[in-house]
Amino acid sequence: MSEFLASSVEYIKGIGPVKGELLRNELNIHSFRDMLYWFPYRYVDRTRFYKISEINEELPYVLVKGKITTITAHGQKRATRLTAQLRDETGSIELIWFQAIKWMRDSLKTAQEYIVFGKPTRYVGKLNIIHPEIETPEYNSEATYLTPFYNTTEKCKANGLDSKSISRSMKALIEKFQKELLPETLPQWLKQKYQLIDLKQAIINIHFPADNELLRAAKRRLKFEELFYLQLHLLGLKKVRQERIKGIVFEKVGEHFNSFYHHHLPFQLTKAQKRVIREIRTDTFTGRHMNRLLQGDVGSGKTVVALMAMLLAIDNRCQSCLMAPTEILANQHYETITSLIRDLPVKVSLLTGSTKSVQRKKILESLADGSLHILIGTHALIEETVRFRQLGLAVIDEQHRFGVEQRARLWLNEQVKPHVLVMTATPIPRTLAMTVYGDLDVSVIDELPPGRKPVATYHFREDKRLKLIGFIRSQVKEGRQVYIVYPLIDESEKLDYANLVQGYESLERDFPPPDYKVSIVHGRQKSELRQLEMRLFAEGKTHIMVATTVIEVGVNIPNASVMVIESAERFGLSQLHQLRGRVGRGASQSYCILMTGNKLSADARERIKVMTQTNDGFVIAEADMRLRGPGDILGTQQSGMVDFKIADLTTDSLLIEETRDAANELLNLDRTLSLPENALIRQQVIRHRKEKGEWDKVS
Ligand code: ADP
Ligand code: MG
Repeated sequence: MSEFLASSVEYIKGIGPVKGELLRNELNIHSFRDMLYWFPYRYVDRTRFYKISEINEELPYVLVKGKITTITAHGQKRATRLTAQLRDETGSIELIWFQAIKWMRDSLKTAQEYIVFGKPTRYVGKLNIIHPEIETPEYNSEATYLTPFYNTTEKCKANGLDSKSISRSMKALIEKFQKELLPETLPQWLKQKYQLIDLKQAIINIHFPADNELLRAAKRRLKFEELFYLQLHLLGLKKVRQERIKGIVFEKVGEHFNSFYHHHLPFQLTKAQKRVIREIRTDTFTGRHMNRLLQGDVGSGKTVVALMAMLLAIDNRCQSCLMAPTEILANQHYETITSLIRDLPVKVSLLTGSTKSVQRKKILESLADGSLHILIGTHALIEETVRFRQLGLAVIDEQHRFGVEQRARLWLNEQVKPHVLVMTATPIPRTLAMTVYGDLDVSVIDELPPGRKPVATYHFREDKRLKLIGFIRSQVKEGRQVYIVYPLIDESEKLDYANLVQGYESLERDFPPPDYKVSIVHGRQKSELRQLEMRLFAEGKTHIMVATTVIEVGVNIPNASVMVIESAERFGLSQLHQLRGRVGRGASQSYCILMTGNKLSADARERIKVMTQTNDGFVIAEADMRLRGPGDILGTQQSGMVDFKIADLTTDSLLIEETRDAANELLNLDRTLSLPENALIRQQVIRHRKEKGEWDKVS
């Protein structure tokens, strides 16, 4: 880095040692370079003044000019609040301060003209602006219609580092920066091809854009750079993996696969299923190692795809395993798969925590001598004693439940790493997948088997509870079963637990025995009792099951046709979608009823709306990302991967595709980045790798 860029932030005009310390500690800004890369988060038109009569609380912020007519301090001994009336020729609005009261009272003058900037809010019917920026008109002379706004912290603000003062120091820094040389980070040919402006131009214009056109160009250039190097990094990892790790070659499609496909498959595969099977076939045929994530909505038919991949393994004298997160799911897979292949010479076993030791011993023997083809199970599969003769394919259901190391233990003892297929029913948006799983192969089943009736989803408020009870009664009369789910986010939440029990008791009054049977299932029960209740429900012996989200994953009970979600406003979108996926599995029309209180936040209203409008998991995932942001969707562990300086996964999907294509193209032409025109890129990649570290998520 040049001497200029490396200089300490305290040498910027207006900063100094004290503020410099703050910038370092609060915002992680150490050098001139860090400062230049502290981009504004928005631009405000500071030339457009509102009349006070035009202001309403829907506006994100307003700029007004007026005179202060009165200043009043409120509170007993010490003032706790200061208010001032700002008036122009159209009306007046209240300005409020809760902090720095004394200082404000001493500096504000009545009859003086001020320019005030802030977010209008309404409190008890009156419009006001809390903690506005306020200044006399001469200080606003630098304002433009694209005045930058910078993120800062409360502590910084309290010490004179608000957006405005950062902007002032930035201006001083940029003035010096104009005269400096700034090393480019993208080669000329790439800039030309993708119509990107120079880095220096971009940095100047991201802070103080000359006009909208230049601002757009600056954003594009900086986002492109950020995303391009990320994609290059991810694709680099992928290519290295493909080159270094040799996969077992499944050279032929044989008897097992063909016989199943032509004679035993009880339905036509969907186009999407066929495509994914082809992708798996291509991966495993070439000698590459497959590391594939399979995304598909609940009910899209991932199991049969996994089965066919396992049959392919058998055709090539390999064993397979399928690991599920819970015993119930492992059982279900076992039953589904054994019934699908009952006429084929394929040996399948189930291994879980409750497998008896005699049986267990037999399984392990047949696994070791190679006579067992497919092993299905839970965590029990990753125990030290489980040894395969030749594991060729490991299928993992519901990836979120397993950590990376847990999965890796599946092939700890293998000489050659088996192919890996990870299945998930929690779709994530395409842009997110390209980023977080950018080093993997991703397949998507984006089509449901034909004839599925979408679950009809309704939103009921408390006043419709009687109607709900009536509806449940009519469904039960028709022989259907009903889930009623209560939020229990944290097992130690006493109140949630009380609600659940109350809900159960009140349902028992509405649906009394012996005509009806209502059960309750939650995480505090002994696991045997819970399993028993689940089984009774699965066998149709219980009509209504009141439960917490323990029923969320995978359970398949086709006769259940109603899912009632209590306090639905408290659930996230993906969880609501997962829960709804528990119904709609049989032939009859299914329903999902979202019960909520009367008052809903804007976000909650949006979530409910999305749920009532679509059944498409990918659309829901997009909405979820829009509402919560990509970081929150991923959870803390991976959120760092979407910590961008300027790019935004929710809005920059086109640019993500473009940069991925660019990176792909580049690596195809110059895999090792050794051509002279790519020396610059190579340098940046090395730097990038140092900053980001290495990660490998699925296997
Ligand atoms: P998921 O993707 O949620 O794991 P499953 O594999 O459990 O879905 O499949 C859901 C149901 O759909 C199963 O009963 C399965 O037999 C059925 N199914 C799968 N593929 C098809 C298809 N192409 N046509 C009809 N039914 C299918
Ligand atoms: Mg499944």
